[in-house]
Amino acid sequence: SNRTFTMVKPDAVANGYEGAILEKITAAGFRLVALKKTRLSPESAGAFYAVHRERPFYGELVEFMSSGPIIAAILEKDNAVADFRTLIGATDPAKADEGTIRKLYAESLGRNAVHGSDSDENARIEGDFFFSGLERF
Ligand code: ATP
Repeated sequence: SNRTFTMVKPDAVANGYEGAILEKITAAGFRLVALKKTRLSPESAGAFYAVHRERPFYGELVEFMSSGPIIAAILEKDNAVADFRTLIGATDPAKADEGTIRKLYAESLGRNAVHGSDSDENARIEGDFFFSGLERF
Protein backbone atom coordinates (compact mmCIF):
# COMPACT_ATOMS: atom_id res chain seq x y z
CA SER A 1 0.00 0.00 0.00
CA ASN A 2 1.06 3.60 -0.39
CA ARG A 3 -0.32 4.86 2.93
CA THR A 4 0.86 4.92 6.53
CA PHE A 5 -0.39 6.40 9.80
CA THR A 6 1.52 8.63 12.21
CA MET A 7 1.08 10.44 15.50
CA VAL A 8 3.15 13.33 16.80
CA LYS A 9 3.25 12.21 20.42
CA PRO A 10 2.50 14.37 23.51
CA ASP A 11 6.20 15.08 24.26
CA ALA A 12 6.84 16.60 20.81
CA VAL A 13 3.60 18.63 20.85
CA ALA A 14 4.38 19.94 24.37
CA ASN A 15 7.96 20.78 23.31
CA GLY A 16 6.72 22.87 20.36
CA TYR A 17 7.95 20.57 17.57
CA GLU A 18 4.68 19.81 15.77
CA GLY A 19 5.30 22.32 12.96
CA ALA A 20 8.92 21.27 12.43
CA ILE A 21 7.94 17.59 12.36
CA LEU A 22 5.09 18.09 9.87
CA GLU A 23 7.47 20.15 7.71
CA LYS A 24 10.03 17.33 7.73
CA ILE A 25 7.32 14.80 6.81
CA THR A 26 5.99 16.81 3.85
CA ALA A 27 9.52 17.77 2.71
CA ALA A 28 10.30 14.03 2.54
CA GLY A 29 7.52 13.64 -0.02
CA PHE A 30 4.61 12.45 2.12
CA ARG A 31 1.21 13.91 1.25
CA LEU A 32 -1.23 14.65 4.09
CA VAL A 33 -4.37 12.58 3.40
CA ALA A 34 -5.91 13.33 6.83
CA LEU A 35 -4.73 15.45 9.78
CA LYS A 36 -6.08 16.37 13.21
CA LYS A 37 -5.03 17.52 16.67
CA THR A 38 -6.79 15.54 19.37
CA ARG A 39 -6.25 13.95 22.76
CA LEU A 40 -6.50 10.26 23.64
CA SER A 41 -8.35 9.24 26.78
CA PRO A 42 -6.58 6.54 28.84
CA GLU A 43 -9.20 4.10 27.50
CA SER A 44 -8.59 4.98 23.85
CA ALA A 45 -4.78 4.98 24.29
CA GLY A 46 -5.10 1.54 25.88
CA ALA A 47 -7.17 0.33 22.94
CA PHE A 48 -4.77 1.80 20.36
CA TYR A 49 -1.80 0.04 22.00
CA ALA A 50 -3.70 -3.16 22.91
CA VAL A 51 -1.05 -5.30 21.13
CA HIS A 52 1.40 -4.20 23.85
CA ARG A 53 -1.00 -5.10 26.73
CA GLU A 54 1.33 -7.74 28.19
CA ARG A 55 4.51 -5.66 27.88
CA PRO A 56 6.04 -4.21 31.08
CA PHE A 57 5.91 -0.67 29.71
CA TYR A 58 2.17 -0.78 28.75
CA GLY A 59 0.92 1.24 31.74
CA GLU A 60 3.59 3.90 31.28
CA LEU A 61 2.88 4.03 27.52
CA VAL A 62 -0.88 4.47 28.02
CA GLU A 63 -0.38 7.14 30.69
CA PHE A 64 2.07 9.05 28.50
CA MET A 65 0.02 8.83 25.30
CA SER A 66 -3.04 10.22 27.12
CA SER A 67 -1.07 12.95 28.95
CA GLY A 68 -1.65 15.72 26.38
CA PRO A 69 -2.65 16.55 22.83
CA ILE A 70 -1.29 14.66 19.84
CA ILE A 71 -1.35 15.15 16.08
CA ALA A 72 -2.76 12.19 14.11
CA ALA A 73 -2.27 11.89 10.34
CA ILE A 74 -2.64 9.53 7.40
CA LEU A 75 0.26 9.92 4.96
CA GLU A 76 0.64 8.90 1.32
CA LYS A 77 3.80 8.14 -0.64
CA ASP A 78 5.23 5.19 -2.58
CA ASN A 79 6.52 2.60 -0.06
CA ALA A 80 4.97 4.69 2.72
CA VAL A 81 5.32 2.34 5.73
CA ALA A 82 8.99 1.50 5.23
CA ASP A 83 10.07 4.96 4.06
CA PHE A 84 8.32 6.61 7.02
CA ARG A 85 10.03 4.31 9.52
CA THR A 86 13.36 5.24 7.92
CA LEU A 87 12.48 8.94 8.26
CA ILE A 88 11.62 8.65 11.97
CA GLY A 89 14.58 6.43 12.95
CA ALA A 90 14.99 3.79 15.65
CA THR A 91 12.45 3.50 18.50
CA ASP A 92 15.17 4.56 20.96
CA PRO A 93 16.41 8.02 19.92
CA ALA A 94 19.86 7.20 21.33
CA LYS A 95 20.09 4.58 18.55
CA ALA A 96 18.44 6.65 15.81
CA ASP A 97 20.45 7.81 12.77
CA GLU A 98 21.50 11.46 12.44
CA GLY A 99 18.84 13.59 10.79
CA THR A 100 15.92 11.33 11.69
CA ILE A 101 12.88 12.79 13.43
CA ARG A 102 13.49 10.84 16.62
CA LYS A 103 17.18 11.80 16.70
CA LEU A 104 16.22 15.46 16.30
CA TYR A 105 13.11 15.71 18.48
CA ALA A 106 12.64 12.71 20.81
CA GLU A 107 13.44 12.80 24.53
CA SER A 108 13.79 9.10 25.33
CA LEU A 109 12.65 5.58 24.42
CA GLY A 110 9.29 6.16 26.09
CA ARG A 111 8.89 9.79 24.97
CA ASN A 112 10.01 9.30 21.39
CA ALA A 113 8.21 12.10 19.53
CA VAL A 114 6.42 10.12 16.81
CA HIS A 115 4.62 6.89 15.97
CA GLY A 116 4.79 5.18 12.60
CA SER A 117 2.76 2.11 11.57
CA ASP A 118 4.81 -1.08 11.24
CA SER A 119 2.79 -2.75 8.44
CA ASP A 120 0.25 -1.95 5.74
CA GLU A 121 -2.44 -3.76 7.74
CA ASN A 122 -1.71 -1.78 10.91
CA ALA A 123 -1.57 1.47 8.90
CA ARG A 124 -5.15 0.79 7.76
CA ILE A 125 -6.36 -0.23 11.25
CA GLU A 126 -4.70 2.77 12.92
CA GLY A 127 -5.97 5.26 10.30
CA ASP A 128 -9.49 3.87 10.75
CA PHE A 129 -9.14 4.33 14.55
CA PHE A 130 -8.86 8.13 14.12
CA PHE A 131 -10.47 9.09 10.81
CA SER A 132 -13.79 8.58 9.04
CA GLY A 133 -13.97 8.26 5.26
CA LEU A 134 -15.16 11.88 4.99
CA GLU A 135 -11.99 13.15 6.72
CA ARG A 136 -9.63 11.77 4.03
CA PHE A 137 -8.61 13.89 1.03
P1 ATP B 1 5.68 3.10 17.48
O1 ATP B 1 4.72 1.95 17.48
O2 ATP B 1 5.33 4.17 18.49
O3 ATP B 1 6.03 3.66 16.15
P2 ATP B 1 7.90 1.30 17.50
O4 ATP B 1 7.16 0.45 16.55
O5 ATP B 1 9.20 1.89 17.07
O6 ATP B 1 7.04 2.51 18.03
P3 ATP B 1 7.28 -0.62 19.62
O7 ATP B 1 8.25 -1.65 20.04
O8 ATP B 1 6.09 -1.01 18.80
O9 ATP B 1 8.12 0.53 18.88
O10 ATP B 1 6.82 0.13 20.95
C1 ATP B 1 5.73 1.03 20.90
C2 ATP B 1 6.07 2.26 21.72
O11 ATP B 1 6.18 1.87 23.08
C3 ATP B 1 7.42 2.90 21.40
O12 ATP B 1 7.34 3.88 20.38
C4 ATP B 1 7.81 3.52 22.72
O13 ATP B 1 7.25 4.84 22.83
C5 ATP B 1 7.17 2.63 23.73
N1 ATP B 1 8.18 1.74 24.29
C6 ATP B 1 8.76 0.69 23.69
N2 ATP B 1 9.62 0.10 24.51
C7 ATP B 1 9.58 0.76 25.68
C8 ATP B 1 10.25 0.66 26.91
N3 ATP B 1 11.12 -0.33 27.14
N4 ATP B 1 9.95 1.55 27.87
C9 ATP B 1 9.06 2.53 27.66
N5 ATP B 1 8.39 2.71 26.50
C10 ATP B 1 8.66 1.84 25.53
